[in-house]
Amino acid sequence: MPALARRMGRAKPSAIMLVAEKAKRLKAEGRDIISFSIGVPNFLPGEHVYAAARDALAKDSGQYGSNRGSDALLDAFIKHIEQIGLNGYKRANCATGIGAKHVIYNLVEALLDEGDTICFATPYWTSYFDIAEIAGAKVDLLPCPASQDYKMTPAQLDAALAKKPKVFLFNNPSNPTGMVYTKEEIAALADVVARYPDTWVISDDIYNRMVFDGVGYHNLVHARPELRDRVIFIDSLSKTYGMPGWRVGFMAGPEVVANAVATMNSNHITNIPEVVTAAAIAALTGPQDVPNAKNLEFQGKRDQVMAVMNSIPGVVCPRPQGAFYVFPDISCAFGKKHGDMAINSDVDFCNALLEAKGVACVPGSAFGEPRALRISYTCPTAQLPEGLRRFQEFFAELK
Ligand code: PMP
Repeated sequence: MPALARRMGRAKPSAIMLVAEKAKRLKAEGRDIISFSIGVPNFLPGEHVYAAARDALAKDSGQYGSNRGSDALLDAFIKHIEQIGLNGYKRANCATGIGAKHVIYNLVEALLDEGDTICFATPYWTSYFDIAEIAGAKVDLLPCPASQDYKMTPAQLDAALAKKPKVFLFNNPSNPTGMVYTKEEIAALADVVARYPDTWVISDDIYNRMVFDGVGYHNLVHARPELRDRVIFIDSLSKTYGMPGWRVGFMAGPEVVANAVATMNSNHITNIPEVVTAAAIAALTGPQDVPNAKNLEFQGKRDQVMAVMNSIPGVVCPRPQGAFYVFPDISCAFGKKHGDMAINSDVDFCNALLEAKGVACVPGSAFGEPRALRISYTCPTAQLPEGLRRFQEFFAELK
């Protein structure tokens, strides 16, 4: 048999999906499983989104569409980002894709030659690493452990950018930590970015509407408008609107970059389907009561998870202020046992927790932080206290 391309040697199936699959298998075997694993919002969009899709279906042209995205969709997106203070973007500055993941994939292809460096913080969203690997880029990781609230410091960024990476990939609010940078923290990072004009910045801000405690969402371009010729803002319908399977992602940035993404689209996806486009426009421009209500619900669930994390001796858990994740450092459990299961790593911990208590979490090593695990707390509201009770019980039973 002929060999696969060398780049496939580097591509790995997502560690997050592996846990989700195991949880699914145990469930199919009749086990009572509570899943804190996969990062899905677990709600459906408002009825107006479905109505728009049905309407579009009735009028569907069945034809190919724009590689960049339809004018109506781009206009809806431009209005949407004006609401978060990103002003002055035109259609030519924007492009769409099959989810933010696809837009980021396109950007990595468009901005980095093989061997170029991309830098980002650890913990990171798993796909950043895998996409960079497939593209043959070098990855420079900036370790941001729990002791610094999982946030990058200006000095760390300065040291990384001094090495002149081609791309700095920033994520705020963060998956997997739920951390949100304050206005002052963003301003300090923007000051650093401004000193290194040879680096592109991809700002993956798809959780920008999921921010709690009134801290607000802040972007490098808010802090320093002149950075807009190098900063590429990423957005998505997946989380905010409960539409992960509809696959709609966006970018706004320099024209030359938006053009490159449209060119990439023209060579693989061609366009986002007409029916999906109509649903996306309805989500962006229609009533916002579903996302607003969910944001409040998630803030309350964050509080429930944090109350339990804070009650477990040895667990270190910076308080998230956005997205729907909590990322406790559970390394205090290493070297202990649950029943006859030895726990020497995050993977051991997650396996034992799933086997013993039927609670599925994702090991932190999937995000480059093997001392932690990720809890995604969007499960049905009634399941959350029970899942947390089992988590607490598991810890109490460690010897
Ligand atoms: N960026 C981050 C930080 C994410 O968490 C995710 C989804 N888990 C994505 C991008 C991809 O989102 P989409 O569904 O739009 O591809």
